Amino acid sequence: MMCADFLHLEEEVRFLESHGVDWMHVDIMDGHYVPNFTLGIDYCQALSRACRMPFDVHLMVEHPEAHVEGFASLPGARLTFHPETVRQPIRLIERIRELGASPGLALDPSHTVDQFRHLFPLVDQVLVMTVNPGYAGQKLQPHCLDKIAELRALLDAQGLKAEIEVDGNVSWDNIPRMIDAGADILVVGTSSLFQKGLSREDAFTRLAQLVQPDLSAAN
Ligand code: MG
Repeated sequence: MMCADFLHLEEEVRFLESHGVDWMHVDIMDGHYVPNFTLGIDYCQALSRACRMPFDVHLMVEHPEAHVEGFASLPGARLTFHPETVRQPIRLIERIRELGASPGLALDPSHTVDQFRHLFPLVDQVLVMTVNPGYAGQKLQPHCLDKIAELRALLDAQGLKAEIEVDGNVSWDNIPRMIDAGADILVVGTSSLFQKGLSREDAFTRLAQLVQPDLSAAN
């Protein structure tokens, strides 16, 4: 949702909902874990009054444990955090579940599947970041496609239910490669659905040709 038109936000949300987008992906940044600032709880609460899509909250913040309570109260909240931002990731996963939300783990491009594989049975989603966290408009780090495939193989081999979400430069060219590698959920932003110079309707038609209707999320 950081890529949506903020001056026409309600219109944007209604378009996404009416076109069958499954989640609103909301990037929360604190200016510490990542250099940028983006959205917050007030923004999310305003969105929740305008539509019924569930929230896919991506916490790119230090001390995410201090913020999960507020975000967990959003409708259908899935809360994904970067495990290196907390001292006890398992405690935070348990806390998110206690709050009635769905926990997810995010791997930035410098992290490997092996580093956090012991946590995958505990979460509902593993988010693979294919650019460095912090900004829209960056180019794909190619090794991350191999990481998606490695994760897919691991989850399937162990019979784990966690979904694989891919976030970063989900472009027209990269979407088929990400799906082939095993992505379940794509976070679409400025390199596809919210591309400048393309109407939202035309972009959505192109997106729908590339993915199943239930595979897209809006960034
Ligand atoms: Mg994100």
